[in-house]
Amino acid sequence: MKDIVVKHEKLRAGIAALLESSGSEAREAGIVTDHLVEANLKGHDSHGVGMVPAYVRSIKEGKLKLNRRLKLVRDDGPFLVGDAQMGHGHVMALDLTDLAIARAKRDGIAVAGLIMSHHIGRVGTYGERCAEAGLISLHFVNVAGHRALVAPFRGTDGRFNTNPICLTLPATGKNPPTILDFATSRIALGKVRVAKNKGKQVPPGTLLNAKGKPTTDPKVMFVDPPAKPGAVVTFGEHKGYGLALFAEIFGAALVGGLTIAPEHPRTYGVVNNMLEIVIDPARLTDMQGLKREIDAVVAYFKASPPAKSKEPVLVPGDPERLSRAARLAKGIPIDATTWGELRAAADMAGLGAAKFAALAK
Ligand code: NAD
Repeated sequence: MKDIVVKHEKLRAGIAALLESSGSEAREAGIVTDHLVEANLKGHDSHGVGMVPAYVRSIKEGKLKLNRRLKLVRDDGPFLVGDAQMGHGHVMALDLTDLAIARAKRDGIAVAGLIMSHHIGRVGTYGERCAEAGLISLHFVNVAGHRALVAPFRGTDGRFNTNPICLTLPATGKNPPTILDFATSRIALGKVRVAKNKGKQVPPGTLLNAKGKPTTDPKVMFVDPPAKPGAVVTFGEHKGYGLALFAEIFGAALVGGLTIAPEHPRTYGVVNNMLEIVIDPARLTDMQGLKREIDAVVAYFKASPPAKSKEPVLVPGDPERLSRAARLAKGIPIDATTWGELRAAADMAGLGAAKFAALAK
């Protein structure tokens, strides 16, 4: 079936109304909507509006708590820890990031932890916020509270999840912010869901089936318990695996969050914990010099002759900017399965499928 293509303004209106019907106050619905639609615009459909049906299910199951306020449980100089109390992660992580930005501007550095948060979505959102404030940031995130779906290097079954990492640099005047933001699994689980919804296979070397053998069938990841799911492999073999391990410990254990260790409950749906380190580079070096070096390095890297003439060398953040420009102009494609799931979620939230479709399309 063909994709539906929608303008971002309409999609924002439909998603915000859906989330408000599900019980969110206007601010919460607005922040979650902006996060999701921006993820779609930036080409990360895995973390876009397609997540809404899962959120509505989590609300109904009592796993995602609405209208929570971030509770600071540690506030000690540059160190901050916020308990999200299973609230909407897009709001909780943004509020923590804003506190960390203010602290880094005051003290030169902030080391901030977010614990017990529902899904925080695209981690780059928080990195971009830091970069827009002229700061540098490092983010380590774990994914706990549900079964483990990513296999360690040399392993055959899930022992952790897609544990993303994000690193950012501010704009220079010549260059926009550099935003590196990725899952440590070979592909994000949401991208496996998108492939399943589109009836497509995933690239070889990405998934293992329940017996630990390579497969390209995304359906192996979406079996209900007690059936055993397959597992995604880490990117870069031992290197991605090593980064995932550090994201698990830095992102959760170091800030008092829930790790994936088997003695912890796996009944929360999804729990994200995050460590973010935000640095004011002006406290370390001369900003003109830093910006000059960023520009020189980016120009030098980009001048490498491309292997394929239509695929020039990019830097992290470029693909998202290119996608955003194209989708602002042409609209956001939404596959038919996701569209059907959104209509069903609108019914479940009390908005109604017809009203949602009228607003969003
Ligand atoms: P990905 O594999 O698409 O990689 C994205 C990163 O690589 C971006 O920084 C992008 O700018 C950069 N990039 C892509 N092509 C490039 C090129 N040719 N040259 C230079 N840089 C390039 O991302 P992913 O692993 O699929 O992750 C997608 C999103 O999922 C991320 O935003 C991540 O934060 C999010 N995520 C969230 C969770 C969670 O639990 N909240 C878990 C996993 C992933």
